[in-house]
Amino acid sequence: MRVLVISDIHANLTALDTVLNEAGNVDAVWCLGDLVGYGPDPNECVERISQLPNLTCIIGNHDAAALKIIDADTFNQEARTALMWTRHVISPKNKVFLGSLAERVVWENVTLTHGSPRQPIWEYILDIRTATQNFDFFTTHLCLIGHTHLPVVYSHSNSNSAAHLSIPEPNQHISLPDRAIINPGSVGQPRDRDPRAAYAIFDTQLMVWEYRRVPYDIFAVQTRMRKVGLPERHIQRLSAGW
Ligand code: ZN
Repeated sequence: MRVLVISDIHANLTALDTVLNEAGNVDAVWCLGDLVGYGPDPNECVERISQLPNLTCIIGNHDAAALKIIDADTFNQEARTALMWTRHVISPKNKVFLGSLAERVVWENVTLTHGSPRQPIWEYILDIRTATQNFDFFTTHLCLIGHTHLPVVYSHSNSNSAAHLSIPEPNQHISLPDRAIINPGSVGQPRDRDPRAAYAIFDTQLMVWEYRRVPYDIFAVQTRMRKVGLPERHIQRLSAGW
């Protein structure tokens, strides 16, 4: 099965549509959460994602915050401004969809979650130590995560040693090891200083992970953000990818 793996769309419809077009034919789509927050198109992104065939979708912290499951105080001031705007505009139907999403899904030998298998909504896996600890919190071969907006592969061949971190190159085909925690990067708000939208194609039979980047019309998104009064810093960061 050829799976499109996406995460952290963050209400950026231009990036999402570019990725959906570029991905080509896939058998399924796995979305690892944060459909909304930061960007100008929360309703359009939820609608687009919810209509994808063979979709498996996980809830992220921004989705939970839009539903008021998570308190706005847990966000910094600018993120809170974007959150309040999102809460104001998100439609009842799209809230129902976001509210139906699970924190964690297991598909055959793959666990899907937003933050980490230890703390699905909250924890950031940003270092080898945290990654190594998290291998004890899932029993499948692989665990796919989002949340940090950084494309990365942590592999763990020996339970007595630390995980190994690798940062994939775009278009590189990676043969996955027996156990790995993998992040496809962010569609709508990359944070690795590469402003292009990130996603991955995962071949479940061959166990091959292909990570990709694609440019999209950032200016169009920034124009919509300005129009609705979203924070200037969030508008700026899209151009530089941080
Ligand atoms: Zn996010």
